[in-house]
Amino acid sequence: MEFFMNKILHIVCPHCDAVTRVPAARLGEHPKCGNCHRHLFESHPIELTGANFRKHVSRNDIPVVADFWAPWCGPCKMMAPAFEQAAARLQPRGRLAKVNTEAEQMLGAQYGNRSIPTLAMFHGGREIARQPGATGAADIIRWVNGNIAG
Ligand SMILES: [Zn+2]
Repeated sequence: MEFFMNKILHIVCPHCDAVTRVPAARLGEHPKCGNCHRHLFESHPIELTGANFRKHVSRNDIPVVADFWAPWCGPCKMMAPAFEQAAARLQPRGRLAKVNTEAEQMLGAQYGNRSIPTLAMFHGGREIARQPGATGAADIIRWVNGNIAG
């Protein structure tokens, strides 16, 4: 426990993509970026693109949950408010991010989104879990927590 509380976590800033070191014990205290001084966590999901996706999934010490979606996808739009709610509940224990697969076709192809919406969870640069299909906020939270614990 003491080890965990003293542990330093690397968090990638959603505004400038710089990596900031945050003591795990202070994660819930609205930490700010050491580079641009903006808040590292807000209640809503962040947007990831081909330019910063790799850095966020590989350099964050917290898990990154990406919602692969597209503007033309009805179920994706239906799920968006649930993902927002889940972000408000789960951050800063995990980073919730949206990837627009219509704008970011390379990422869409790379992460195999034959069906969208798809949630994929990354830790240490690797995909550790995947959940296809639209789900509600409670199910998203349960799924993320189950994969963090496991
Ligand atoms: Zn920053």
